Amino acid sequence: MQILTVPKYEKKLRQKSNNLNIDLIATADMQKFFEELGKTMLAANGLGLAAPQVAQQIRVIAVNINGQAHIFINPNITKKSLLKNTAEEGCLSVPGRYGKVKRHKKITLVYLDENGQKQRKKFMGLASRVIQHEINHLDGILFIDKLIK
Ligand SMILES: [Zn+2]
Repeated sequence: MQILTVPKYEKKLRQKSNNLNIDLIATADMQKFFEELGKTMLAANGLGLAAPQVAQQIRVIAVNINGQAHIFINPNITKKSLLKNTAEEGCLSVPGRYGKVKRHKKITLVYLDENGQKQRKKFMGLASRVIQHEINHLDGILFIDKLIK
């Protein structure tokens, strides 16, 4: 799959994505999409990839956790730590740019997995950061909007 980049696809990357209809999760097309999204992320050495980055305006993200692609559907952060930390980020849609972004240290995420099962999990460290970055994509927000000067 092609990864959309700025500036060419800025308008598309700035759109808000819609929740995925849960009836579609089990379809062969959607299962293939989840697999391709994960593969595309890993092939690009990305830590995460959101569906709108491959031109699908649906709330689906892939996150690289220890070299494996994990799919989160309709992800919702239900809790976040008051404590934040700052680290450098980059983005497959913003090639060549890096910068420091402040994120919540810990989050609780409610989502559907690729089997349509509802999950509720806590994340911290890098996974927490990547998930926050990817959910921003679902709302048309890029990390360059949040850079600390
Ligand atoms: Zn990104």
